[in-house]
Amino acid sequence: MIPFSPPRIDDKTIEAVSEVLRSGWITTGPKTKQFEKEISAYCGVKSTVAVNSWTMGMQVLLHWWGIGEGDEVILPAYTYCASANVIVHAGAKPVLVDINEEDFNLNVDAVHAAITPKTKAILAVDIGGFPCDYNTLRDLINEPEIKGQFSPNTDLQKQLGRILLLSDAAHSFGAIMNGQKSAALADIATFSFHAVKNLTTAEGGALCFNLPDGFDHDAIYREMCTKILHGQSKDALAKTKKGNWRYDVEEPGFKCNMTDIQAAIGLIELDRYQENLDRRKAIFNTYDAAFAKEDWASTPIHTTENKASSYHLYQIRINNVSEEQRDAIIQEIFEQDVSVNVHFLPIPMLTAYMKRGYSISDYPEAYRKYSQMISLPVYYDLSDEQVGMVIEAIKNAVVKVLGS
Ligand SMILES: *Cc1c(COP(=O)(O)O)cnc(C)c1O
Repeated sequence: MIPFSPPRIDDKTIEAVSEVLRSGWITTGPKTKQFEKEISAYCGVKSTVAVNSWTMGMQVLLHWWGIGEGDEVILPAYTYCASANVIVHAGAKPVLVDINEEDFNLNVDAVHAAITPKTKAILAVDIGGFPCDYNTLRDLINEPEIKGQFSPNTDLQKQLGRILLLSDAAHSFGAIMNGQKSAALADIATFSFHAVKNLTTAEGGALCFNLPDGFDHDAIYREMCTKILHGQSKDALAKTKKGNWRYDVEEPGFKCNMTDIQAAIGLIELDRYQENLDRRKAIFNTYDAAFAKEDWASTPIHTTENKASSYHLYQIRINNVSEEQRDAIIQEIFEQDVSVNVHFLPIPMLTAYMKRGYSISDYPEAYRKYSQMISLPVYYDLSDEQVGMVIEAIKNAVVKVLGS
């Protein structure tokens, strides 16, 4: 069976983790701090806070920014449930918008139409690793009319004076837009280092801050480090200094710090990330070459004049099929010992959100994309021979279900 997305764990990773285990320092410490610095440098952002998952990092972030009851956050209907769940837990309303025809990302005109005086943030999701239209989103939130109706509730919101632009960059570590890492184009970008993501720490995530000048990023970093560790004024490392035991808690915090065991994996991953991207890109190109000539196939956009994907998901679409036919094709692919996946069941199709009044009929493009798409295996260790087997399996399955 060709797996869908196994992590790249080898002797190098195992050695790095063993070193941390032997060092006696296994929670947040020097490796985590180094990982944060290297992420900031790699992404070109002002500061980075490592956390134990995208989800908990985002939860703390929404709390810190003062988003809650009565507020609205705009996000695409086409994303993983975590993107919307955190907004529900914050007590705010997820306002879903439909996606573009040409890619899987949120449609900026739909975002514009969804903005109200209650809108506090836009959560743009780089689906599959392809960056959203951050320039257009920035222009939009800076339009005098949009800025004029913004009503801040907190000092931070007042200081920004406009809607906060968040990037759900769970898929897009290393993606590029206009010569910059796309994470640097949002006010705050949030990564996931879950086992299936491009860069993994087994479980983990990071918040990358790139707020406008005037925000004190050192102070924000210190505040966030406190917030992710119970609100405690000193972390475990600071408390190891002789006699330095006393601490205070000014506000009850959360608990979602990254450990040095996780950071050790991340540092290895980051060190060889370009190799990973290059291999992924080569696999994308091979899939493109194989499917571009099939009239039943639509291949995903991954590289344009000003954008380059992180090549996280190869989302092929089978033109004009029904959801049932797509499911039958997936079954046939698995029969040939190839694992594929669907990214994603749109939010309005999940019971939790149907119960909250969302309906997929309001998001026709999200449904069309979802019902026709299949994600193919893409990872560093996938060999050329295996890529060939995936291609054969897809072609055979399509012929079997649709005829030729
Ligand atoms: C994986 C994923 C998340 C959640 O990441 P965790 O680290 O598992 O919390 C959020 N958004 C998207 C788009 C994802 O794919």
